[in-house]
Amino acid sequence: MNAYPDLRLRRVRRTPGIRAMFDLEVPGPAKWCWPTFLVPGSGVRREIPSMPGQFQWSADRICEAVEPVVRQGVGSVLLFGQSDLPKDNGGSAAWDDRAPVQQAIRSLKRAFPGLTVLTDVCLCAYTSHGHCAPLRPDGSPDNDAACACLAKVALSHAAAGADGVAPSAMMDGQIAAIRAALREEGFEETLLMAYSTKFCSACYGPFRDAEGSAPRPVPGMPADRKGYQASFANPRNALLESALDEQEGADLLMVKPALFYTDMIAAVKARTLLPVAAYNVSGEYSMLIATARAGWGDLGDLVREGTLALTRAGADLIISYWASRYEEFFGKRA
Ligand SMILES: [Zn+2]
Repeated sequence: MNAYPDLRLRRVRRTPGIRAMFDLEVPGPAKWCWPTFLVPGSGVRREIPSMPGQFQWSADRICEAVEPVVRQGVGSVLLFGQSDLPKDNGGSAAWDDRAPVQQAIRSLKRAFPGLTVLTDVCLCAYTSHGHCAPLRPDGSPDNDAACACLAKVALSHAAAGADGVAPSAMMDGQIAAIRAALREEGFEETLLMAYSTKFCSACYGPFRDAEGSAPRPVPGMPADRKGYQASFANPRNALLESALDEQEGADLLMVKPALFYTDMIAAVKARTLLPVAAYNVSGEYSMLIATARAGWGDLGDLVREGTLALTRAGADLIISYWASRYEEFFGKRA
């Protein structure tokens, strides 16, 4: 092999044109997914204080929200919702066809037939206690009852026209339960994206503002989700989770959060032939904005560097709030 003085790596870094020949690129907008938030009511467009530039929308305004995102070529959206229907132990409002998410799916598929509409499937925004499962009388989560409830939510979204469902409750067996329910009800073509390694992270704070889904104190149950979300200190357990989700019938595997977990994106990618999605979560979004606002970094540079890190780690699909500003940060793509 050549060595210095003949080998000089600065040759491949010398000009923008030469660098562009060798640099990886952030994927085009078709490989991006924009997460957004539905709330009850009508005429609502409410900025989320902890997520500047991101809004809560009522279902009647969701097309107005999504139109500029579609115009930039972004290929998919991931819908989160709340409802003003009564909350109960099992979160039954989540599978009520009148809920904002179900209404929004129908409007979006009518207005943008080429847009891929994915939905978050969980119970925590709809349960009286804010946990992702019904609670037993002793306050512990009822895993298997949760799987049955999650299957009802997934069916309701699929029936409204969702292209794919993404269960995020981190219950054992949830992928198998949803896959079976979809198959039995004639939705065998519905995509199933597993939040395979959803870590119990401090980066979800701004999202909980948006979703109103922080768990409330229940006797016998801690006011957090450590009992079911993956521990960030136990990567082997998280990898096992993703392997099980693949076995249970997931079409793609997701790692959430993303920027603190690029090692996990790479590790999941190395173990599967399924596509891998990275969910660049609310706290990761807001910390870049806070840094830029403090004058400690340029927002565009931070966004581009952070996103490229996900590409480098192997993410096939980028789920990110930055999708709504794709052109501003990554330019127009044909
Ligand atoms: Zn949940």
